[in-house]
Amino acid sequence: MVYISMEVLQEAMRHRHNIRNIAVIAHVDHGKTTLTDSLLARAGFISSSQAGTKRATDTLKAEQEKGITIKSTAISLYYDLGAENMKQFGLTNSDGSGFLINLVDSPGHVDFSPEVTAALRIVDGAMVVVDCVSGVSVQTETVLRQALCERIKPVLMMNKLDRAIFEKGLSPEEIYCTLRNVVENVNALIATYAEDESPMGDLMMDPSKGNVAFGSGLHGWGFNLRQFANLYAAKFGIKEEKLMKRLWGENFYNPKTCQWTTEVTEGSVRGFNQFVLEPLIKILQAATDCDKANTSALLQKLGYHLTQNDLELEGKEFMRAAMKTWLPAADAMLDMIILHLPSPVTAQTYRTELLYEGPLDDDAAEAMKACDPNGPLMMYISKMVPSAEKGRFYAVGRVFSGTVALAKKTVVMMGGSVQGVDDAPCGNIVGLVGVDKFLQKSGTISTFEHAHNLKVLKFSVSPVVRVAVEPVNPQDLAKLVEGLRRLNKVEPLVQVTSEAGQHVVAGAGELHLEIILQDLEETYAGVPIKKSDPVVKYCETVTRESSRVCLAKSVNKLNKLYMMASPLPEGLSEEIERGDLSSDIKERARYLADNYSFDVNEARKIWCFGPNNSGPNIFIDSTHGVDTTRVRDAICAGFQWVSNEGVLCDETMRGVRFDLRDAQIHSDPAHCGGSQIIPAARRGLFASMLTASPALLEPVYMVEVQCPLTVIGSVMSVLSRRRGVVVEQLHHSGSPLCTVKAHTPVNETFGFSEELKSQTSGQAFLQCIFDHWQILPGDPLVSGSKAAEIVASVRKQKGLSANIPTLESVLDKL
Ligand code: GDP
Repeated sequence: MVYISMEVLQEAMRHRHNIRNIAVIAHVDHGKTTLTDSLLARAGFISSSQAGTKRATDTLKAEQEKGITIKSTAISLYYDLGAENMKQFGLTNSDGSGFLINLVDSPGHVDFSPEVTAALRIVDGAMVVVDCVSGVSVQTETVLRQALCERIKPVLMMNKLDRAIFEKGLSPEEIYCTLRNVVENVNALIATYAEDESPMGDLMMDPSKGNVAFGSGLHGWGFNLRQFANLYAAKFGIKEEKLMKRLWGENFYNPKTCQWTTEVTEGSVRGFNQFVLEPLIKILQAATDCDKANTSALLQKLGYHLTQNDLELEGKEFMRAAMKTWLPAADAMLDMIILHLPSPVTAQTYRTELLYEGPLDDDAAEAMKACDPNGPLMMYISKMVPSAEKGRFYAVGRVFSGTVALAKKTVVMMGGSVQGVDDAPCGNIVGLVGVDKFLQKSGTISTFEHAHNLKVLKFSVSPVVRVAVEPVNPQDLAKLVEGLRRLNKVEPLVQVTSEAGQHVVAGAGELHLEIILQDLEETYAGVPIKKSDPVVKYCETVTRESSRVCLAKSVNKLNKLYMMASPLPEGLSEEIERGDLSSDIKERARYLADNYSFDVNEARKIWCFGPNNSGPNIFIDSTHGVDTTRVRDAICAGFQWVSNEGVLCDETMRGVRFDLRDAQIHSDPAHCGGSQIIPAARRGLFASMLTASPALLEPVYMVEVQCPLTVIGSVMSVLSRRRGVVVEQLHHSGSPLCTVKAHTPVNETFGFSEELKSQTSGQAFLQCIFDHWQILPGDPLVSGSKAAEIVASVRKQKGLSANIPTLESVLDKL
């Protein structure tokens, strides 16, 4: 066990060239947690016999039970590369040989992808873990794409090599082809998503460069080609770098003639197979058979000695000990991380322009580009992590410039524990105590008066499933409300609302909510809670233009508003939601006229978007010759209200354009105030919707199932029972697995994963990602239709009156 003192840690935090901020990203189940544990064991914070089984980064109970990683946790590791290695690797700087590696663990399940996004913001490099047997999968692609967009440099770790060797009984050449396929697939993704001429330099994965490692996280061994080149360099009298090139790709060696060739010739064998795989398999076999004499002899030849303790171990324990003595997985990964991933000093030169919203020549930007500890403080908080003190949080984030020293406390997260530090200069990832009071979810902290924000995170998931919660014991209500407040603070993708006296939590999917509610019960509220079954969040829309102009009079009858509704052109809602439209009125109007056939004059008179002034519905003043300025604010307030709670069942609206066609406004401001106009506007908007064939929109997932070909029939039948429409079916070459992608209404996905498990004996793997909204079949205004049934049940859940308001009740006559 290696423990380092606080002095060493503080010192390491100042050596910016020797810091690596990295995330480990992977598809769920590819071995990220297991590998992370090997790293932790090497850095000495948990005992090394437990690595591979302890799951130190999975600190929350729900994760242990589900066996998946949910919260991204920051952990700092200290690793001394040693003076000799520094020299050998050509690393010369004044910062010494100790490296501080801040590792941000992130989940592999798509339901939690906001957590991944939050983790990526604060790191500069990523170790991409791929299970070499199942290959590159959906989530690997999603996360790698996100990483490249944020200018996060990747290295590749191919895990589960033990399975490729033993379970599948492949020949060395077949193993080589499997591994080469993975490398090529990753490179294809990088070529697709990376910028041309990336400032990160050459991003291609190439084992002979050392940015790819191989191994078995479970058994604690791993290597990159440098380790093997090092073994043979003396024998061949070839420099390590040069030899690495021969140990991958089309390089063959003939032991009889002692010749290297770039084509297979009689008697020659591929360098990788001969010098890497063969000795590896031989020793692995001896160690797995627990043939101690043979294992020691083979290792001794390579210059490694087993200790007496190792020799006393039996079975798997012996195998692990022997393999770790020779090829510790952590060293292969650390070597790759240190040599191939950038320090904050390097990364911030090219990442600042992506991260900072302000001008790139102000003091904050200059200090970030230079990673200057004496510049103004710029820190991005990406996550709130519950602290031991009940109800309080560490605000975890990255210092980009300046030095943070708080009156309260700054902490570094090491393994399972937290260490206080005096201050933290730029380049580091730390937690702050005391800022949780001032910050919700994420944000920028700065000492520079004119600082702009570091860009807010864009999340790629929508909260489309919700659950109502209440305390089991009514007297715990206050605790539940407080718990919900905390939950809302911490979770990037949760909406907490209260509707008709009910507390509702909305999340990305069933699993996401399940985990979050468990956190709510155990951590945030600490009281037993009752949960309703999950229900889908719907939206309301209209399908054609109002059949008439609808009149609404104010209560005092002195003001008249004439309105109509119509659907927005296809694609515009999404563009509004992404925030793509310009805020410059003229520019925006031109764009809408050119791309969506708006009348340019009308497009210039968009009063507002809604709900929340930014949602995918618009209100336009299309009156002529009427002075509407006095009522504009009140009408907009009515529009915000209606776009948040539509006429059908108080669901948010989507894709609707409302027009004010005409108006008669009383000349005395006392008679046309908000209390007169807001209710009138709401009635007019309701009437406009009811006359424009209103409809419900339901969320649709892109469901991805990965499974062996043998069970594809069962998968298809489960999908079709659940209204799934298959859009793509892929068969991975060289693997028995295939992937099916299907659009499936979210409403049909509850219990999906259990059903799939039982129908395929657990061989299918499922992920659901929100894809789009679609119109629910049936007219909600015609009783007996599917849409009317859903409207009725949503009204009931929300405690609304049973019936949709009738047109007569909201439409006024002249
Ligand atoms: P994560 O979801 O990516 O964090 O994956 P985990 O680290 O939890 O690993 C998923 C499963 O794969 C666990 O059952 C591990 O024991 C197993 N596993 C991890 N690494 C290896 C490996 O190298 N070889 C084999 N055979 N199994 C592994």
